Amino acid sequence: MNVLVINCGSSSLKYQLINSDSEEVLAKGLCERIGIDGRLVYQKEGCDKEVTEASMPTHKEAIQMVLDALTNDKTGAIKSLKEIDAVGHRVVHGGEKFASSVVIDEEVIKAVEECNDLAPLHNPANLIGINVCKELMPGVPMVAVFDTAFHQTMPAKAYLYGLPIEYYENYKVRRYGFHGTSHSFVSKRTVEFLGLDPENSKVIVCHLGNGSSISAVLNGKCIDTTMGLTPLEGVVMGTRSGNIDPAIIEYIAKKENLDIPAIMNILNKKSGLQGLSKLSSDFRDLNEAAQNGNKYAENAIEVLCYGIAKFVGGYVAALNGVDAITFTAGIGENASLVREKVVEYLGYLGITLDKEANSKRGEEMIISTADSKVKVCVIPTNEELAICRETVALVK
Ligand code: AMP
Repeated sequence: MNVLVINCGSSSLKYQLINSDSEEVLAKGLCERIGIDGRLVYQKEGCDKEVTEASMPTHKEAIQMVLDALTNDKTGAIKSLKEIDAVGHRVVHGGEKFASSVVIDEEVIKAVEECNDLAPLHNPANLIGINVCKELMPGVPMVAVFDTAFHQTMPAKAYLYGLPIEYYENYKVRRYGFHGTSHSFVSKRTVEFLGLDPENSKVIVCHLGNGSSISAVLNGKCIDTTMGLTPLEGVVMGTRSGNIDPAIIEYIAKKENLDIPAIMNILNKKSGLQGLSKLSSDFRDLNEAAQNGNKYAENAIEVLCYGIAKFVGGYVAALNGVDAITFTAGIGENASLVREKVVEYLGYLGITLDKEANSKRGEEMIISTADSKVKVCVIPTNEELAICRETVALVK
């Protein structure tokens, strides 16, 4: 069957049409600048990218343009919308209501709406995508796949913060975790790839991209993760601070005469690698600058790698051991320097790095030596394929 995977953001939308039998991507692309001016990028399998500038006042016009492109006489991947058998939607926050993917109905839409407060930038956009697809493709089954669902297996000791418990009881303030689709996909694939026993496996997944999170997965179930109530917590990211002393908020607010929204903007958009380096949020830029002797860039990379290693060490304790540590996402899959630096901190676990294997990038591989006590590997993530598989499992 053909599954349309939709990842709807506030002013952008990514899509892939996947044949679930062959798992081939028939077409993919994105709509950008929705509500501003509008640009559609469309790429049919085996063809060049087409870029069309066109007015997209709302997500409705954007999704209509995607459907028109997919069914275009000349360059379409399918002949008509009848060939779309199901739609899989990425939904960022499922709160405590959703511990797995679900077929979307009115009740699910209402429950997702109730999680809007927890992800005010993301969930409303995800819901727009769901409602527009419902309108434009009536009767086509749709599935919601939540970023938070995989982490719902965490025990209370991992998800509760040291705050008055009423905040959890009244407002559901707790650790939720994100990138769950990726952590689920990559941890499962690690077990398969290394031939581990799924019922007796301890895997740590380092999803390192613009946004980064690490998870501890015991026998296929998440027991802890670094992101929290929001995706701001955890390791240093492209522009997000990750963990800081919460008292810094008041201290900087007073020094710089800022209010809470202004501070939150700094923590989300001006911190992390960008803030530390004064240069860029993009790891490639930092790597190049560091090689040219830029101290800020060097420090940013050191802070990142040291922070990752500390979380990994903590998760070895949480799991009481570890069979495999896996790197994924843009930095994890491609930046051999980050992997090397992180692994250097983990020598006490009996891990040794195969430097030649580690010099490669972007492919499934083991980067520890054969005699290493813990396997270290790279598994490219594929969130769209994971959403497609979840969708098929629920609608078939
Ligand atoms: P993602 O959010 O998963 O797309 O990851 C984006 C991050 O991956 C950015 O910091 C990029 O600089 C980094 N990245 C992508 N390609 C490479 C590469 N070839 N080498 C190093 N870092 C890369």
